[in-house]
Amino acid sequence: MESAGNVQAFISKRVVVPQGIQDAAVLVEDGRILDVVSRSQIPSRFAIRDLGDYALLPGLVDSHIHMNEPGRTEWEGFRTATRAAAAGGYTTLIDMPLNCLPPTTTVAALEAKRRAASGQCHVDWMAWGGVVCDNQERLAELTAAGVPGFKCFLIHPGIDGFTMVTEQELRAALPHLARAGLPLLVHAELPSPVEAATQKLEQADWTKYTTYLQSRPDEAELSAIQLLLTLCREFRFRLHIVHLSTSRALETLRAAKREGLPLSVETCPHYLHFAAEEIPDRATLFKCAPPIRSRENRETLWQGLNEGVIDLVATDHSPCPPEMKLLHEGSFRNAWGGISSVSLALPVMWTEASRRGFALGDIVRWMAEGPAKLAGCHSRKGRIAKGFDADFVVFCPEEQFTVTENHLHYRHRVSPYLGERLRGVVQATYLRGNCIFADGACIGEPRGSELQR
Ligand SMILES: [Zn+2]
Repeated sequence: MESAGNVQAFISKRVVVPQGIQDAAVLVEDGRILDVVSRSQIPSRFAIRDLGDYALLPGLVDSHIHMNEPGRTEWEGFRTATRAAAAGGYTTLIDMPLNCLPPTTTVAALEAKRRAASGQCHVDWMAWGGVVCDNQERLAELTAAGVPGFKCFLIHPGIDGFTMVTEQELRAALPHLARAGLPLLVHAELPSPVEAATQKLEQADWTKYTTYLQSRPDEAELSAIQLLLTLCREFRFRLHIVHLSTSRALETLRAAKREGLPLSVETCPHYLHFAAEEIPDRATLFKCAPPIRSRENRETLWQGLNEGVIDLVATDHSPCPPEMKLLHEGSFRNAWGGISSVSLALPVMWTEASRRGFALGDIVRWMAEGPAKLAGCHSRKGRIAKGFDADFVVFCPEEQFTVTENHLHYRHRVSPYLGERLRGVVQATYLRGNCIFADGACIGEPRGSELQR
């Protein structure tokens, strides 16, 4: 006899499957999706969970998050980040290799991260490895140890302990990456346009957002992307541009994809929601790099998503202790850059996407399937389909709410989204058939585990 606990049928009028939205029953056995069937086909041994009008989406996958543990757990940590993720409908997180100490640039550091994560995680997770100035020889070991890919910076990452790479250093790493067949995620800004622009702003008022915006010109992204495409053509490694902010790169990226380069592109909810014109002076909670640009730029990024030039949306959830945002001083020059959003990304995206005529299936493509494919976990994560993990978001697309601190479940409850009116509420989140979040709170002990490639 099987217990009702491990055989369940989730019934919804709006199940978001790869083919579209269906009135269906999702049969779950032992944490996996056994099948997606019509209501009349549910075997009698299955316990029914009728979700009524709520939509059922696959658990979201965030391929860009900074959990900062070990070493900077006071910034975030596995327990609080994964709790916040569950509240936001995310069931898989792929952690960035920097901001933690040691950074994930050696196998020893990866093992330290695994120890730190053990028993702490409410959702499943993986860890990107880092490519820094001097670890080219360690990349094969990190690959063998199970990282799904690597991250590097072409500009100073704003923190010590993780070095940027020059073109020469990158060239030394690329044959290893091409051989491994794993993606290289690149922070694509070059230093020289930023340095030149910043020099001219020595005397400027750095409490103004426009000063910060001028200091990170589009050209920094455009020149980095040009360089990366040249290297991609030469080495044929899987190139992934993280957090694209300038829409002016879309034409080049479109052409590169047409050419057949192994290229994927990501942007973030904050670039698709906020606009520079609306950011108040001193409001350093909006500081991130590359910066939030104009309203017109935002609309063109939406076109890039619509066309598929931009493949996916990741949060770049990057918290810090609130003091580091220098909220009293209000200096965009000295404040930490990073926006925390993992609890809110789904309603933020749905608010903007539904207003522009997109459907829940588009959200799933951008926030579940796309990131899962990038991280190589797309045979288990990111879809409601036979054989996949029973990771779900129960979502009410119509309900609206105003963001308060109670909606932020991460360690430091500061956010540029506070006070925003958003559309779409995460009612519950399931990880491998188990309810991990419902009615505004996490449920049960951490059940998440590391996904091995
Ligand atoms: Zn980041």
